[in-house]
Amino acid sequence: MIVVGGGNAALCAALSARDEGAEVLLLERAPQEERGGNSSFTEGLMRIVYRGADDIKALSPELTVAEMASDFGTYTEEQFFDDMARITQNRTDPDLCEILVKNSNDIMHWIKGKGIRFLPQFGRQSFKVEGQFKFWGGATLAAVGGGPGLVDGLYRAAGKAGVKILYKAWARDLVHSDEGVSGVVVKVDGVTQTLHARNVILACGGFEANAAWRSRHLGRGWDLAKVRGTRYNTGDGLEMAMRIGAQPCGHWSGCHSVGWERYAADFGDPAVTDDYERDSYPFSIMVNAEGRRFLDEGADIRNYTYAKYGRVILDQPEQFAWQIFDAKVKHLLRPEYSSKHVTRVTAKTVEELASKLDGVDAGQVLTTIREYNAAVTRGVPFNPNVKDGLRTEGLQIPKSNWANPIDTPPFEGYAVTCGITFTFGGLRITTEGQVVDTNHQPIPGLYAAGEMVGGLFYFNYPGATGLTSGAIFGRLAGKSAALAALSQGRG
Ligand SMILES: Cc1cc2nc3c(=O)[nH]c(=O)nc-3n(C[C@H](O)[C@H](O)[C@H](O)COP(=O)(O)OP(=O)(O)OC[C@H]3O[C@@H](n4cnc5c(N)ncnc54)[C@H](O)[C@@H]3O)c2cc1C
Repeated sequence: MIVVGGGNAALCAALSARDEGAEVLLLERAPQEERGGNSSFTEGLMRIVYRGADDIKALSPELTVAEMASDFGTYTEEQFFDDMARITQNRTDPDLCEILVKNSNDIMHWIKGKGIRFLPQFGRQSFKVEGQFKFWGGATLAAVGGGPGLVDGLYRAAGKAGVKILYKAWARDLVHSDEGVSGVVVKVDGVTQTLHARNVILACGGFEANAAWRSRHLGRGWDLAKVRGTRYNTGDGLEMAMRIGAQPCGHWSGCHSVGWERYAADFGDPAVTDDYERDSYPFSIMVNAEGRRFLDEGADIRNYTYAKYGRVILDQPEQFAWQIFDAKVKHLLRPEYSSKHVTRVTAKTVEELASKLDGVDAGQVLTTIREYNAAVTRGVPFNPNVKDGLRTEGLQIPKSNWANPIDTPPFEGYAVTCGITFTFGGLRITTEGQVVDTNHQPIPGLYAAGEMVGGLFYFNYPGATGLTSGAIFGRLAGKSAALAALSQGRG
């Protein structure tokens, strides 16, 4: 079996196929030091169903008594289904969504069995209020060591399991006949060769790192978005599959994109990418070049809005915005706001702040802040852990929660633009992970997993679902392909 790609989905596919006894060759386009795709840029955070503290402990046995005193809450199957339905405007494919939700807890135990450790994300998915961490639910556990920890652990497991790995192996085409797919044309370290296999699993990402495809499919201006993660996900797998008739599926003009450091590098850089995140905006107001607010910063907790707000920022004049905070919420800002990779201004008065916001109509910013402060409802206590209902009244664009007035110096502004994470458009697969053609028939020998699966995400995305989905559909594809090879004697 050949697995194309070297991230979480590919590694889970390879490991799962090995579990079933298949011989596996994994082709990673990147050199070894850049291996792991977007997966290695993540926090390693995974959204899963759990019934309470005992389920967390089962996956994080080393938690101390003090840590176990945290309020982990619960995240039921119903909540995960509801989140997927609500966030995708009821468009998520019900069959794929069911596979995702129902396997989300079990997949963590499977990955743990491959040697990966998990811990709750204290501080990033919970705030300490009155001496206790209270988690928002769902996205509670992350791999120890974050994305690099997860990816290194999976490569270690793959090595142990006997998966053969080629780096600098750039898959370019599928070997295909009326019988189906039987191999890959790949350029290994600059030399093109044809490799044959009983089955091919494509797990080589979306097209987020391809500026031309972004502007073609996502629309005008997307060529200028910053790429948050790997520079190797250029849509190759999608293109080679569609060349042989694979069916595109899902939200091809949609993607996951966030507010990101305005002057970030064009592609992710493992050394600094974490510093570019600007996810504390629920405690800010955001203004555009015209000095006006343009979205509801407090519409929901960060996990349910961050992935759609990049597009909104991209749509603003000159594709940028400023997040404005006052001293009351400074302690809630994520650590990356204190890194050296920020475009920040500080000021003792709002007038001084407005004059320092590069490219912004300063007079209008002052009007915006005045109107916003006047619209904040009084008497509702601020609570960063829940949707606190501290909101504005009477504004054309409301702030629905955490609407503290901007009135306590020093004031700070952070410049942001749009950072693209991954694209939503993918290939149609069966519930066994097999790729379907435009004639609505499964293509023998071809499977897909990870970002390449179309039909799960539309418009938005519940934070931390990508790794869970990649692992589940990777494991599924690996198992299905291995069993198909055995039962059909494909060769
Ligand atoms: C900064 C950042 C933070 C994130 N944080 C989280 C998080 O905490 N939790 C979460 O769930 N999700 C997170 N995500 C999303 C998550 O990264 C993805 O959903 C997930 O990693 C996708 O896994 P994948 O295996 O499909 O793709 P990838 O991990 O991107 O792997 C694709 C692989 O394919 C290889 N490849 C591409 N083209 C070819 C080719 N032609 N031939 C051979 N190989 C090829 C690439 O080199 C790469 O190894 C984050 C993303 C980013 C960018």
